[in-house]
Amino acid sequence: MGGTAEMQAIIDDAVRRVGADRTRLMDILQDTHRGHGHLDHGDFAAIGAALGIRAAAVEDTASFYAFFNRLPRGRFHIFFSRTPVSLMKGAREVAAAFAAATGAQIGAVSPDGAFSLAWAADLGMADQEPSALVNGAAVVRLSPADAPGIVAALKGADGKASGLPLFGGDGAAQSLPQARIADSLVEPGPALFDAEATGDGLRRALERPPDEVVKEISKAKLRGRGGAGFPTGLKWKLCRQGKGDRRFVVCNADEGEPGTFKDRVLLTRAPDLVFEGMTIAAHAIGASSGVVYLRAEYAYLLASLEEKLSARRAAGRLGRNILGRSNFDFDIRIQLGAGAYVCGEESSLIESLEGKRGSPRDRPPFPTERGYLGGPTAVDNVETFACATRILERGSAWFSQFGTPESTGVKLFSVSGDCERPGVYELPFGVTLNELLDRVGASEARFVQVGGPSGECVAPKDYGRRLAYEDLSTGGSVMIFGPQRNVLETALEFTEFFAEESCGWCTPCRVGSTILAETMRKIVGGRASLEDVIAAHNLARTVKRTSRCGLGQTAPNPIVSTMRNFPERYEAALVKEDFTPRVDLNDALEESRRVQRPDKTMPEQQA
Ligand code: SF4
Repeated sequence: MGGTAEMQAIIDDAVRRVGADRTRLMDILQDTHRGHGHLDHGDFAAIGAALGIRAAAVEDTASFYAFFNRLPRGRFHIFFSRTPVSLMKGAREVAAAFAAATGAQIGAVSPDGAFSLAWAADLGMADQEPSALVNGAAVVRLSPADAPGIVAALKGADGKASGLPLFGGDGAAQSLPQARIADSLVEPGPALFDAEATGDGLRRALERPPDEVVKEISKAKLRGRGGAGFPTGLKWKLCRQGKGDRRFVVCNADEGEPGTFKDRVLLTRAPDLVFEGMTIAAHAIGASSGVVYLRAEYAYLLASLEEKLSARRAAGRLGRNILGRSNFDFDIRIQLGAGAYVCGEESSLIESLEGKRGSPRDRPPFPTERGYLGGPTAVDNVETFACATRILERGSAWFSQFGTPESTGVKLFSVSGDCERPGVYELPFGVTLNELLDRVGASEARFVQVGGPSGECVAPKDYGRRLAYEDLSTGGSVMIFGPQRNVLETALEFTEFFAEESCGWCTPCRVGSTILAETMRKIVGGRASLEDVIAAHNLARTVKRTSRCGLGQTAPNPIVSTMRNFPERYEAALVKEDFTPRVDLNDALEESRRVQRPDKTMPEQQA
């Protein structure tokens, strides 16, 4: 890792590359972190001096993100995915095996400085757990037996591309830096992965005036695929009406909801569909700039996505005068995140894009009015843009023939956990959970978490419910838990996840989520009374009602939905009121009485 002069050169290059633009601080920090292996006060001071801002402001941003290390780390830094699914597939045992093989404890550096190990919230690999990132390269389907071989081979490597061991996902061994994971598309559907698609969406969009494009999207009743379900046509219309010289299209590729990975598959298999949708949106709202906010965990996709963008520029589908239209210029850049779940929320994402901490903004104003760099901004999910492309290609009537009247079209479901065929399924909205469980081979599901930790924990009696905005709403995550799983332990894992990911800005979320996690620990440990459960229920309501953003408002969901759907599990876990204490207070105090007695009672005894 670089010395002072070398680091100064790296920082100077990074600052120059973004034109000394303070709002591109994330890029500068990424480059500096890559060069130094961590970020320290010297880095903050040098970056601050180059940008003309205080070092403390630089540190303020950097300290927000989990992937920016503040302390030196090993030549190989390994993040292990920690989610209920990864844990049930053996992530703890895998991490322990790596700790033994490297001599590094989790959260520390090995004595020889070669390795550092850490847990990460979710790596977007729920279909192939246990997974890890080794210097940013994804490795999947790990077992404890893999650890010694991988560590030995890494020790002999130079930390770069050469000499690294061969391993990787999907049975195809690859050298580590290129380790590719399976894209896991199990069931392509009739729209997004339709092999017959013409790829003509953008051309058809440009043949129509912008407001006609917005109307087509509205007629299709397209709603946001990230989970919130806001009508896309209305968002684009508001954005178009927003005041400002510059409008922006932002693609939210920060899919951090544990259990979801369908955007990873879309960006691997069909990135053009996404970029095309962004370009259509730019035409519709009058934008000339677009940004894809790519989660740090998917950094390994960056090179291939950049290649696609270059190819689109060469084909006249990005850049100046797109498809020969002299008045339509639009280009896209990719912004890498740095590990913060809350940045999936659109206003947090915009803050991060502007080089700040990813704290949510107060709303209004909404991003459609004042978003990225103060301009009207349409922030949409990866899958939403892909749907928009197909709608312009084939028409709103074709698209809305799929799904239900309130949830038109198809949906990508990321299925993981205890099932025979985990992966991505493209199905029409309205499919029942039972139908999905049949497809994926999960006949013995004891409970299913739909929509990630912030969604609903569904009991078997409700498997007839439909996956749709009007019933079981989901951004795509469907985690299946078999007969051997404990619903309370899963609720605890999810609650701890929220406590960890809270940005800390507001008290109900910061303090409430921590207390809720502590109470769940008590319940799972068999130390809770009915009063504890009632107190947790009341606190959950307060946290939901008073938190500032969606994270806090949904953080109590794992507790609330398991209390609602599995009350018998809570009842069974409680300390019974008619219990016989295992500790007899009188017996327990006797020893101390004996110890004290000689001094105090001797005279009486003698008498
Ligand atoms: Fe931050 Fe949580 Fe408050 Fe949202 S609800 S602003 S994540 S502390």
